[in-house]
Parts: sequence; structure tokens; C-alpha cells
Amino acid sequence: MFDHQEIILARFGEIALKGLNRGQFERRLIGNIKRRLQPLGRFAIELRQSRIWIEPVEEIADFEPILAAVTSVFGIVSASPVWRFGAEQRDDLQVLKTKAVEFIEQLIKEGGSFSFKVESRRSDKRYPLTSPEINILLGGHLLQTFPDQLRVDVHQPDFVLYVEVREQLYIYSRVVKGHKGLPVGTGGQGMLLLSGGIDSPVAGYMMASRGMELQAVYFHAFPFTGDQAKEKVIELAKQLAVYAGRLRLHIVNFTDIQLILRDHCPQDMLTIAMRRMMMRIAARIAKANGCRALITGESLGQVASQTLEALCTTDVVSPIPVFRPLIGLDKDDITQIARRIGTYETSILPYEDCCTVFVAKHPKTKPTLADAEIAEEGLDIDRLVEDGLVDLEEVRL
Ligand code: ATP
Ligand code: MG
Repeated sequence: MFDHQEIILARFGEIALKGLNRGQFERRLIGNIKRRLQPLGRFAIELRQSRIWIEPVEEIADFEPILAAVTSVFGIVSASPVWRFGAEQRDDLQVLKTKAVEFIEQLIKEGGSFSFKVESRRSDKRYPLTSPEINILLGGHLLQTFPDQLRVDVHQPDFVLYVEVREQLYIYSRVVKGHKGLPVGTGGQGMLLLSGGIDSPVAGYMMASRGMELQAVYFHAFPFTGDQAKEKVIELAKQLAVYAGRLRLHIVNFTDIQLILRDHCPQDMLTIAMRRMMMRIAARIAKANGCRALITGESLGQVASQTLEALCTTDVVSPIPVFRPLIGLDKDDITQIARRIGTYETSILPYEDCCTVFVAKHPKTKPTLADAEIAEEGLDIDRLVEDGLVDLEEVRL
């Protein structure tokens, strides 16, 4: 028997296009993978020929958590568990045949009969066979070895046995999709307004997928929103951190501000007034922490406070840009993303959000800026903002 080594091959996409910045993007990507894999063992990680090779330097019992971790890093398009063998016997076709049989045996053990094809790529032209010749040789040999379990289908096979001839030989069949995008840390820092709902975690995920490093702010109105609501938001932040990496969550004690607004503002302008206060406070926390944009989960027309008119009244109070990556998405599509990234189940837990506690029965759907200013007339806005900034709690995830 010839030994093989099980390693992971990861592919990246878009960052290959970044011209002069390419080196910086690649370094960041490798750094993010290293950090993500740190709790899972020790690895040698190397970038060669526009691929990332991840090699365990100690015995690994289960590759699944490693694959999951690697494919959750933004910038990675896909990853495969790969067998590598034959630096010395690379050109010995017997070795290739033996390893291919061993590899397929594993798949067959898991059950059933399969259609398959062999797909080879030869980047070292000194190898004795061309790619089509490898396909024919191996395909034939495998069919002969497993006549009852295998049949060839070149159009829609159940699996493809990939063979790559480089300085060594590589075979694999699984290709696990990654989350694509750009490496976190290459797109500046943004402050996500994170509520317990379905939308805002998805908004954070989307901006992080463009390389933005995230911090989050949650407006908590105890006892109107209970500890469970807060725990839920912390849990969501934790789930976001799976993709976004390290994340700091700032928790604002919003109760007094909310009570003052409730007593002061016309009912139909309450939500807008609240949202304007959130924006002002969030922007201050953002600036103090090096974030140059706010991020919200708003989507045009989804609720009364998300009409164009309403969005304009909240936009103007933020001195930094407000990113709303979900603005043109359907609730269905947002929900689908939430399910895919694993935040949905937490988001639908029933704990109240501070916006729903005091919500007006008939909010103004087309508030003007003047409406908003009248609603706030007589309030010491600067004072309220300062009040929101004391007692900040910070949770690091
Ligand atoms: P979500 O599902 O994200 O809660 P939503 O559809 O419930 O969104 P709103 O409650 O109107 O919409 O909130 C709009 C956006 O304002 C949210 O996506 C979020 O970015 C922000 N937001 C709302 N409530 C809070 C809060 N308590 N703390 C932080 N941000 C909030
Ligand atoms: Mg909400």
C-alpha cells in the first residue's frame, strides 16, 4: 500500500481579480482561514497556483468541521477534501490505479451503485499520459474493478472522480460550496444595528460578505424587552461571528429614552422618532469605534417605517452613510438567506423587540422631515443622545 495524505484544497474567486491589491487580499484571506481553524487543530496553510492548500500537521479524526469552517470564510468559493500521494511514484500508473480504487471503495461502502466519470487535469506536461488518456485508463480500470456498483455517465454522473497531476497527484470527488465574497477586513468597518428580527442579521452577513468588518449595536429597553430578548441578540451576534469573525456587540440601555419619546411624541410618529434616536446614537458609537458606516436590515416598503419617506427622515440624522443591503429584497428571499446562514431559528423566537412594544396602531406611512422635526420639538436631542451613551455594555464574540 502507498500512503496518502488527506488535505483540504480551497478555491477562491473574486479576489483573483483585484490586480495590485491582490497580495493584500490573499494575505487577509489566509489570515482569516488561520484564525477560523485555530480551535480545530494545527495546520500548514499555503497559497500555491491560485489555490489554498490546508494540511493538518497532526492527526485529524474528522474533516467535516474543518471543511465547514473553511467554507464559511468569505472569499472561499469551494473546498474539497483531497487525497495527495506519490511524490516519488507520481508517474507510476499502478499507484494511481490502486489509490483510485481505494478512494472509490470508500464511496461505495457508504452504499448503493453510482454513475460516475473521471475528470483529469494535468498541469505538468511531463506526465506520461494526457488528461483524456488518464480518464480512459482510470474509468476502465474502475469499471472493471466494480462492475456491479459503477456505470459511466459523462453528462450527469452521481459523482466525478477528479484527478489532478501537479508536482504530486491529487484525487477527490466532493466539492463543498463556500460563501464567496471578499475576505473580511478588506472592506473597512461598519456598525450593524442588530435587532432580534430576521432581517438585520442577514444585512450584517451581506456586508461582511463584501469584506466589511462588523461591530453591532443593540437597543435594549428593559423591562419592556426582557433578558431573553437580549440573550437572543447575543446569540444572533454569535452566529454572525461564524462568518464575520470577531465581533463586538454594544448594548444601549434605551428604556429612558423610549419612555420620554412615548410621552412626548405624537403616537403616529413614535416609531420614526425612535428610529431617528437609534441612528444618532449608533452613529456616535460607530465613530468612537472606527466604523465609517451604519448598516440596517431595512427593506423598502416592508413596514410603515420603511417607506421611502420614512427612510429619508431617518437617513438625514446620520452623519455617516447608512447601508441597507436588503433594500431591494423580498421578505421571502431574506428569510431564505436567514435559513441558509443559520440565524432564522433564533430570529423567530418570540421575545419582544423594543420597536414592537410601543408601536402605534396607525403609524404615518409618509412622514415628512417636518413631521419628524415637529415630533421632536422641545426635546433636548443632544442630551438624550448623551444619555444613550452612558451605561454602554459591551459583549465580545
Ligand atoms: P429586523 O428583522 O432586522 O428586526 P424589522 O423588519 O423588524 O427588521 P424594524 O423593526 O423596523 O424592522 O427595524 C428596522 C431596522 O432597524 C432593523 O433591521 C435593525 O437594523 C434596526 N433595529 C430595529 N430595532 C432595533 C434594536 N432594538 N436594536 C438595534 N437595531 C434595531
Ligand atoms: Mg425588528
